[in-house]
Amino acid sequence: MGVIVPELKYTPLEAIPDRVSIIKNTFFENKTRDIEFRLVQLRKLYWAIKDNEQEIAEACRLDLNRPLFEIITGESGWVLNDLVFIIRNLKKWAKDESAEDIEITYKLMNPKIRKDPFGCCLVIGSFNFPFQLTLGPAIGAIAAGNTVIIKPSENSSHCAAIMQKLFETALDPSCYQVIQGSIDETQLLLAQKWDKIFFTGSHAVGRIIAKTAAENLTPVVLELGGMNPAIVTKSANPRLVARRMLWGKTLNAGQICTSQNYHLVDREVLPQVIEEFKKAYDEFYPNGAKASPDYSRIINKRQFQRLKSVLDNSKGKILMGGELDEEELYIEPTLVLLDSTEDSLCEAETFGPFLTIIPVDSTDEAIRLANNVQSTPLGVYPFGNKAEVEKIIANTRSGGVAVNDASLHIPTLSFGGVGESGTGSYRGRASFDVWVHRRTITTSPGWIEAILGIRYPPYAAKVKPFKIATATYPDFDRTGKKIVCGWLKWFLTLGGGSATKGAVRYATIAVIYYYVIKYLERGGTKFW
Ligand code: NAD
Repeated sequence: MGVIVPELKYTPLEAIPDRVSIIKNTFFENKTRDIEFRLVQLRKLYWAIKDNEQEIAEACRLDLNRPLFEIITGESGWVLNDLVFIIRNLKKWAKDESAEDIEITYKLMNPKIRKDPFGCCLVIGSFNFPFQLTLGPAIGAIAAGNTVIIKPSENSSHCAAIMQKLFETALDPSCYQVIQGSIDETQLLLAQKWDKIFFTGSHAVGRIIAKTAAENLTPVVLELGGMNPAIVTKSANPRLVARRMLWGKTLNAGQICTSQNYHLVDREVLPQVIEEFKKAYDEFYPNGAKASPDYSRIINKRQFQRLKSVLDNSKGKILMGGELDEEELYIEPTLVLLDSTEDSLCEAETFGPFLTIIPVDSTDEAIRLANNVQSTPLGVYPFGNKAEVEKIIANTRSGGVAVNDASLHIPTLSFGGVGESGTGSYRGRASFDVWVHRRTITTSPGWIEAILGIRYPPYAAKVKPFKIATATYPDFDRTGKKIVCGWLKWFLTLGGGSATKGAVRYATIAVIYYYVIKYLERGGTKFW
């Protein structure tokens, strides 16, 4: 029996403010602060995804011709693994943290960090990895105790419709909702007041989101794209470069934010690298990419036309591929040799299967060009020996780095951009952390009044004792150099200057300590 995927229906504009109100009100009922409640929601979502894996696969096929393997590794399978990881760790992450590295006086106030949800949050997704990039941030938001609305991309319409089905099947509608639509619907959503907005998409729309959010001082996470360079030094292994870079550019037909936009290849290894790209292509797609079940299509005609015009306007020489078929939205993986970065293929992120090569004379030249094209991309991909790789990392900036590989920094630690490629990060534990406010809580016990009382006016008599009791002794001198055995001097003088002053401080502390102990022995009701 064939799998039926529901049709995408846009949410009526007039319904949107009420739907937002519902989840906003629920947040203040404290339903989502309960960890057990969150866990039940996440567990139900897990099973809804598991039970609808076939529909998810069919939706990804209809929208992007995604191969099943890529759906298991990058869509439903990815989200399921994320869910299990978060569910397993949630109680640990959500616990209050006690404060470290603080002064002893503040330790007495038992300071701790509570992981407070932001409140009512909005997640806006992109089309290219619809489930991973919309449900991924959303499950972090749920885990952290927020109420959440997601707005999937209308461009991957079948996937958007399935996400709605998953939410409606699994989740409490008073806390979690899906709003469907395009620009008008998203703009209306943005006009509501949010406690945090998480956006994945283009620079252009990212700017709109950031500006609108600024009106309400709403914090935003922006997961944007970038002009990611691969830097291939002369010590790189050409076969590894070709296989890994071809994978990075053919995955989802290059419609992936972390894929490399251009390769700066040292002339010494250029012929071998080109040769290996051709070999790798034949190995990946023995009958050509078009006939392969393992190669995706471009999302829609608009994006196809954009990519066609980028290629048409390029001054580069096509070394491999170059076939385009608008009917099928097919663009062959295409290797293009440029003699400079001044080309349509290097003007902006291509977000398509173009493998652009620019020959360079040295690693220094590659670094200079990379910083010139975009100084803060989402990823940098250096290939070569340890010294060259370290040099590249030390002289560039980026959201992340995958050494000798493409895109593999995505699932690790925390993932996100920097500068123009975005702000804020998630994945792993960061998927929880990005959705909580670290709220500091201090508790001043009554007995500490003996010490804290020094803050009250009249001040006159208190300046000197305060300075003595709180002086710190730096372990560095006026030239910025560290003083050897500074800690020993600090200990002997209790933080400052001369041994006499140190002795006075020790005596002062001993007296305060004596009275505190006496106070506690008397039952803590009266100080003197
Ligand atoms: P997009 O910016 O066109 O759309 C993203 C979302 O914004 C969609 O949900 C869309 O409905 C909404 N939107 C579009 N126009 C809008 C407007 N004028 N006002 C308000 N909302 C609007 O991005 P896309 O085409 O879906 O995705 C491709 C881009 O996303 C690429 O630039 C890519 O690099 C980036 N991306 C980044 C990451 C990351 O994690 N950093 C991941 C995937 C994609």
